[in-house]
Amino acid sequence: MARISAKNMPMLKVIPLGGLGEVGKNMTVLEYEDEILIVDCGMSFPDDEMFGIDAVIPDFNYVLDQNKTVRAVVITHGHEDHIGALPFLLDKIDVPVYGTKLSLGLIQRKLDEKMMDKARLMRQVTIGEVIKLGRFEVEFIRNNHSIADSCSLFIKCAGLKIVHTGDFKIDYTPVDGEVIDLQRLAEIGGGIDLLLSDSTNAEYPGNTPSEKKVGNTLMELFRGCKSRIIVTSFASNIHRTQQIFQAASANNRKLALSGRSMLNIVKVAQELGYLKIPEDVLIDIKDVKKYKDNKVVILTTGSQGEPMSALTRMAAGEHRQIQIKSGDVVIMSANPIPGNEKMIIDVVNKLFALGAQVLYSKNTENVHASGHASQEELKLIFSLLKPKYFVPVHGEVKMLIKHAEIAKEMGVRASNVFLMQNGDVLEINKREAKCENAINAGITLVDGLGVGDIGNIVLKERKALSQFGILMIAVAMDKNRLVSGPDIISRGFVYMRESSDLINKTAQIAKGVILQCEKDGIKDWVDIKTKLKNQVGDYLYEQTGRNPIILPIIMSATPAAGQQSAGAGRATNKGETRNVRVRQSQ
Ligand SMILES: [Zn+2]
Ligand SMILES: [Zn+2]
Repeated sequence: MARISAKNMPMLKVIPLGGLGEVGKNMTVLEYEDEILIVDCGMSFPDDEMFGIDAVIPDFNYVLDQNKTVRAVVITHGHEDHIGALPFLLDKIDVPVYGTKLSLGLIQRKLDEKMMDKARLMRQVTIGEVIKLGRFEVEFIRNNHSIADSCSLFIKCAGLKIVHTGDFKIDYTPVDGEVIDLQRLAEIGGGIDLLLSDSTNAEYPGNTPSEKKVGNTLMELFRGCKSRIIVTSFASNIHRTQQIFQAASANNRKLALSGRSMLNIVKVAQELGYLKIPEDVLIDIKDVKKYKDNKVVILTTGSQGEPMSALTRMAAGEHRQIQIKSGDVVIMSANPIPGNEKMIIDVVNKLFALGAQVLYSKNTENVHASGHASQEELKLIFSLLKPKYFVPVHGEVKMLIKHAEIAKEMGVRASNVFLMQNGDVLEINKREAKCENAINAGITLVDGLGVGDIGNIVLKERKALSQFGILMIAVAMDKNRLVSGPDIISRGFVYMRESSDLINKTAQIAKGVILQCEKDGIKDWVDIKTKLKNQVGDYLYEQTGRNPIILPIIMSATPAAGQQSAGAGRATNKGETRNVRVRQSQ
């Protein structure tokens, strides 16, 4: 058998479908010949312009169209930006999912919510385990992060050694005592071909503080406090939750949970053994009022100011059980995810206005610690692994660029650092690596039950509606002859009752357009509608400086067969039609 020389060796492709140039929807495809391995499958939240959109997920088409064998999805940890899109992928293809116990527990919860029966695809791994997946071999290496059971991946394929750090930090005193496995990273170091590493905190010098530090701060704050305490943090940050329970217990306070995801995740984490709730501490939110203020803690969702979350409802005075009162201490034990700052400040202001004392990172140290590595930790990874090639992942452009600089500082050759975007294809073998091609890696929008049915056109319309509203022109026509109308209806444009002049004039202009069309022999309704849109649009812009969506609706007032009696087939002057076949066209 002829040996394949390195020169002719096929290339392994590494294609990020999400997570680059953004913090969210992480998903990376590794492709070698006819096999694909997927690392993570996350979602992100819609930006301000995406009206009504619930979630944004990666475009899976590349994976679905390739006619290749998708060996598995391997999950680094159970955060939404790594597992959130998985149900949508599993809806399209049956592919085994490998992850640690907690990651799979959280995935299962999502599948249950969607009533999807995919338990047969779940493959639980133990940290340290090596899994053979076709031509890929994946080792799960323990790391530290703001969720338990988080892993970095050591992947071997085609003689190449790749490390994907996943989200990580280096915490020498983690809450569960399980320090990131630096020893293993040192063992595999030296011969690493490609490193993909978390860039979220690449702009921050020094080291990210230990989670324990937050625990100590909370303990101190609870100890000296005579008031009711409300703490908000990420529901998935189980170690934080653990420390809040401990601080409550040590200070003889009961703890009540508020918010659906908080209740759900605490339940899953407790069932799987990741959370130890001290005896007699947990109470129902309904029972909070039975205890003195200095005997309770409320742990709630809403650390990001999410509009429907429990803390936001408390701040707005709309929470059923908890009314914020003067003297309450609210601890924001989380930092804003980029983009959420405004919503959070709004909640903080409302809480202050209600008389609460709000402790957050701006006025209190160590109420939160990030789950991502700062510069010195990132450097340690470079010095342990000594990768030949490097791709910064998981971050906005500025974070990726900073991480690329750190890589060069740490001795990676500048030409071996690849600043990639979603869809870029890195091709690598033992001899070389290049990034010259790209595939289409767009986004898929989720709106209610619809996945991918909302595109740019609908979004543009929603934006226009939100800015200027809508004005409808309803007419009934018999062929090209006006029978009734035009009736003008507007929503979100002007207050109709106080704008009768404008509305009447608009109706006159619309009528003029139709009569002119009749005169000119224009019969095609599409043409008539275009003229209506243009001329009415011009008039409204002239009068108001606004561009509402103009929606002409022409109803056919052709008399129905056999109903030729007088009066029948005539539209009323209110735009209603009696005894006529009405065909609506928009
Ligand atoms: Zn994470
Ligand atoms: Zn992440």
